[in-house]
Amino acid sequence: MANEKNTNNEIKKDVKSAKERLLLQTPKGMRDLLPEDYVFWEKAMHSASEIADFYGFGHIETPILEYADLFARGVGMNTDMVEKEMYALKTKGEDMLALRPESTAAIMRSFIENGMSRLPQPVKLWYFGPHFRYENPQSGRYRQFYQTGFEIIGGEPDPIFDAIIIISAIHFLEKMKIKNVIIEINSIGCKQCRAIYKRKLQDFYRKEIASVGKKKNKVVCSDCERRIGTNPLRVLDCKKDACVQFKINAPSILDGICAPCRTHLKGVLEFIDELNIPYTLNPYLVRGLDYYNRTVFEFFAEGSNLAFGGGGRYDYLADMIGGKSTPAVGVALGLDRIINILKAKETNADIRKKEKVFIAHVGAAAKKKAFALINEFYKNGVKMIEALGKESLQAQLKVADRENCPMVLIIGQKEVYEGTVIIRDMKTGVQENVLASKIIEEVKKRIYGK
Ligand code: AMP
Repeated sequence: MANEKNTNNEIKKDVKSAKERLLLQTPKGMRDLLPEDYVFWEKAMHSASEIADFYGFGHIETPILEYADLFARGVGMNTDMVEKEMYALKTKGEDMLALRPESTAAIMRSFIENGMSRLPQPVKLWYFGPHFRYENPQSGRYRQFYQTGFEIIGGEPDPIFDAIIIISAIHFLEKMKIKNVIIEINSIGCKQCRAIYKRKLQDFYRKEIASVGKKKNKVVCSDCERRIGTNPLRVLDCKKDACVQFKINAPSILDGICAPCRTHLKGVLEFIDELNIPYTLNPYLVRGLDYYNRTVFEFFAEGSNLAFGGGGRYDYLADMIGGKSTPAVGVALGLDRIINILKAKETNADIRKKEKVFIAHVGAAAKKKAFALINEFYKNGVKMIEALGKESLQAQLKVADRENCPMVLIIGQKEVYEGTVIIRDMKTGVQENVLASKIIEEVKKRIYGK
């Protein structure tokens, strides 16, 4: 009896310490973005914002929580994203909400709710932020991940808008130093021609499965066996070995799309050809969401099967979520994967180096002068770094070195007395004395050439 009591106490203790351990870690598949990571996220935000500014996309931020039905109706009930991956919750007021697994449906909701169809068409919007999917975490796959995206909603379903979306994404990847991007493009047709293709695909898979008897897992995985009946296009999107290998025998949608869809695809490709951008036509690229029609595309790096981003046309989405039919096209770029690659190329100091000037002091009087001078530089828009908490000059210069500062200002007792500041060029090691009253002007001249 006494032994049993001891064991129970130990179990309780273990449960308690397991709970404490959990308190001290992020949920599975989620991570902190620490200051050393955040510089990369800032670079991504800045790059996306510059492209948006150039092409005239307005910044939009939708709530992280939306009604779960929005995604069920927009993205599709039979998609992995809604069926398996959505973080859904019931509020105290009994509302079913979901952490957004993607933003396109939410942006279309906002377009309709805010009467954006009354604005000059099309409306160009871009976004940046966290998204949530209950997936199996692995390299480049998280449960909280970040996307930036560009959407063009309204107006005519003109192929030029598909091309503008594709080029915006390419510019973004270039700015993030992703080289040799491979673009895969396809058309998944419209309601009419896709329905015919779906039946063709169902017939093909059913016939193949019937012919192999018990070896049907050589044709499709068990999930896809079910999908053949519910959503056969999803079979082409499945990443399981059997499905990937067998799909090359499947009929190609490009052989079956109708004339208007063919003309649309030709239009998109002609615009892309104008820019001499290489692409691959992949007739088995379908993307996992229900709202796409006609153009779909994905971006990869050479030798990797993890996509950096993807998108396409979604002319039916507005109608699917209860609005009036509105042509639209967009792209979502996965920042976590892009930043993982950028991090391998650049350190955060490379990114942060942007002409920051370091200020070092020797002695208490110089510390006060340095503190006041930083304030003056702030008012003049010059970026400074300091280590005023350190007293030794050597320790301060170590920080300047670590931060890759091209220039260090040094104030010692003599400089306080003489009203001067030493400028040290960190590349050449050359030092000069400059009057304190002229220092801002001099620094600006050296850094910005003005
Ligand atoms: P999707 O909305 O599925 O088309 O995703 C667009 C891009 O977001 C993908 O190409 C990935 O780069 C990225 N992405 C999607 N899901 C995840 C995830 N779970 N973890 C990290 N990145 C993701």
